[in-house]
Parts: sequence; structure tokens; C-alpha cells
Amino acid sequence: MKLTVLGSGSPEAYARRASSGYLLETGKDTILFDCGGGVFDNLLRSGRRPSDITHLFFSHLHSDHMMDYARLVHAAWDEGAPPLKVFGPAPIARITQGYFGPDGVLSHDLRARTELVPSQEVWKARGGTLPRPWPAPEVTEISPGFRHNGDGWTLSSCAVPHAQPVLDCMAFAVEAAGRKFVYSGDAGPCNALEQLCAKADLLLHWCYRLDGEGAHPMMVPLTPTPSDIARMARKAEVGRLLVTHFRIHMDQPDRHGAAVEAMRSEFGADCAIVEDLDTYEV
Ligand SMILES: [Zn+2]
Repeated sequence: MKLTVLGSGSPEAYARRASSGYLLETGKDTILFDCGGGVFDNLLRSGRRPSDITHLFFSHLHSDHMMDYARLVHAAWDEGAPPLKVFGPAPIARITQGYFGPDGVLSHDLRARTELVPSQEVWKARGGTLPRPWPAPEVTEISPGFRHNGDGWTLSSCAVPHAQPVLDCMAFAVEAAGRKFVYSGDAGPCNALEQLCAKADLLLHWCYRLDGEGAHPMMVPLTPTPSDIARMARKAEVGRLLVTHFRIHMDQPDRHGAAVEAMRSEFGADCAIVEDLDTYEV
């Protein structure tokens, strides 16, 4: 498997880091985990096309994990790609209809592109045929514990504490060819995540708060620090630890350096804070 980081940031507007998005390639499939703002452009910068994505999994539906969803679906449709397979917690079906349904916010655009003769001619000139159907991603609403058998890979999931009860939030593990990749989503520490991480070859874990950084008492148990994450990863016998979802203040050189040191002292050398467009073999 190969991991490409398409968005290592947070909801904060930040040129260095797009919001959450991670590409995992395994066999013939290209799986995208989350699709936050800026992920679409980084997908193009990484040399791939929207139509290359075969599966999209949403860990949860905070905006910084789905703001580029409509753009990805629309662009893949415009390339003539087969319908994208989309998996995410409710209400992803309603959100999809809200964009692409008959009365969706993009319905005027889609009517213009599919009904006006000049647009039809552009479509035909690119090899398309008429009538031109609207984008119709294959949406499956999933709950924590969802499992999926892909072509040579399996996905499993668990609930992680983050934005309940408003949002279902989950972590994912993908196993292929004897290797295991885990993506935490946005996750507070919990036994289920620790079990999902057991003996993972690569764990990609969010981080929203640094060691020694204060937070609201309700926020503290939901936002593990680099030390907390590294301790959990070591206990779970993870092979390599990557930390992501970094915010602007966390990238100040002294703070960034201290976070790496804290992780190394708990976990060992094979850990890092990722940057956009980094790639890793799993
Ligand atoms: Zn979130």
C-alpha cells in the first residue's frame, strides 16, 4: 500500500496545510479518506486525476473533512468517470442529494451542462454520449463497526470519541497483503481505537493539542497530545507513527520540534509529523 498525504491541516485557513485528506493506493484501487478543503488541489498536484479515486470514506462530517466533496464528485463526473463509491456516516446521503439531487444546490449548473446544446456539444466532442446523466455517486451510509471487503483489501472501523452525539465519528483500518494501515480520524483516546491500532504497520493519527497546552476541561480528554499518541502507539505495537491535523500555532519551529522530540522519547525514532504531499509505503 502507498499513502499520500493530501491534507495535513485543520479547519484553520493555512497555506502550508490543506484540511484533512489521505490517499491510500492498494492494488487497482485508490481510496481517499476524507476530503477537506484544499484536498482536491493537492490531488491534482500529486499527479492524479479526480477520476482515479475509486472509493471515498468519510471518518466524520466536520466541514474540514468534507468541504471538497462536491468538487471531487463534480470533476470526476466531468471526466466521465464511473460513479464514485462513497462511504460515510449519516447524513452523507442527504448531503449528496443536497448537492446533486433534482433540487440540489448544483441543480441549475447540472441542468445547464446537460440540457443546453452548446454544453452538449462540448461533452460530445470529448467523447461523451447523450443524454448525459447527472453525477450519481454510490453512497453507502455506515456506522462504527462497518466492514468492507475490497479487491485484495479489507476495511474495518470503530467509533472514536470526538463530536458525538451530533456527529458519528470513526477510525478506519485497511489490511492488504499482510500489511495494516490505520487512520484515526479525529479521535480522543479509547480502547476501541487502541485495539484497531494493534500491530499496525503504519498509524496515521490526528493531533489537535501540544503537550503542556491548556484547553477547556471538556476538550482535554478528546485531544491527545503528541506524548499521549506516542504512548498509545507504542502500547499497540505500531510499526511507524505519523501525526497529522496540525494547526498554525503548532508549526512554530520550537513547538514543532518539541512535538517530534516528545513523540520520539515515548515511541522511538520511526515517527514524524507529516506535510502535504508526503508519501509513505505501508
Ligand atoms: Zn473533526
